[in-house]
Amino acid sequence: QAKAEGGSCLRVFEPELDERLRTRRLLIADLRNAMARQELTILFQPQVSTATRRIKGAEALLRWHHPQRGMISPDVFIPMAEETGLIIPIGAWVLEQACQVARGWGGLNLAVNVSAIQVRQASFVATVEGALARSGLPPAQLELEITEAAMLANSAETLAILSRLRSLGVRLAMDDFGTGYSSLATLQRFRFDKIKVDRSFIRHIAMDAKAVALLRAVIALGSALDVTTNAEGVEDEGQLSMLRAEGCEEAQGFLFGRPMSAADFQARVGQQDARAA
Ligand code: C2E
Ligand code: MG
Ligand code: MG
Ligand code: MG
Repeated sequence: QAKAEGGSCLRVFEPELDERLRTRRLLIADLRNAMARQELTILFQPQVSTATRRIKGAEALLRWHHPQRGMISPDVFIPMAEETGLIIPIGAWVLEQACQVARGWGGLNLAVNVSAIQVRQASFVATVEGALARSGLPPAQLELEITEAAMLANSAETLAILSRLRSLGVRLAMDDFGTGYSSLATLQRFRFDKIKVDRSFIRHIAMDAKAVALLRAVIALGSALDVTTNAEGVEDEGQLSMLRAEGCEEAQGFLFGRPMSAADFQARVGQQDARAA
């Protein structure tokens, strides 16, 4: 049809593009009010020891319940929050709330995702310090998950901020390890406490020898650098026994629990303690 109109393909797609941009703008406008309207909630996904399956802690994962559009994935709204700077107040809120919740876990760890934009702000250290102080959560129980994209952005300043965070006693995890191209260089430049092997590597370990070889190499790397390895996205027993055999210490995934409410997580921990007693 575009050809019949004289070859202007662009015109045909314009309304669609327009519509997408319009939706985006509307979503961003709504995101500005999402916190005040209490549409954001934090779910918690168990992180377990591969050897014992015991829960060691949980990762906080943000959810947005939009009044008209329903649940919006963080993969959609976190990038919007980053582009608009809204990630700064939203990220501070997540830290504050999640630390308050984790204070009641009796010593389990809390992992919180932080965006590159947050880590670039010198005030971020004070934000973390404040959340810890107000909640009473011991710094050693807080782990910040940072993707390597964050490390690329602004190396010298970012590294200085990460150092200050570590001197608070907070631990640092490199998230989605293996998905970018600078993972190794980053590990050389900065001391992380944990490597989280991206889900895409775990997905195929049961049937793909190359995936196993890669996993093995990452675990060897972690052990050489004295860094804990966590496998993300573990969905079945086959994957778990493989991870155990290869010496991966920690795992996370639907096999052990989907992201759940704070109350449900608390109940899971309660069951575990009852069994152990
Ligand atoms: P991530 O930090 O790598 O989190 C892991 C993602 O994998 C989560 O998706 C989790 O629900 C999902 N997942 C966990 N186990 C399994 C499994 O066994 N199978 C499959 N298929 N998926 C699994 P989610 O919650 O949709 O979050 C997506 C991403 O959004 C996160 O990836 C993180 O990068 C970002 N994100 C979430 N919450 C926050 C936040 O508070 N702040 C920031 N800056 N980013 C966040
Ligand atoms: Mg994460
Ligand atoms: Mg990840
Ligand atoms: Mg991710």
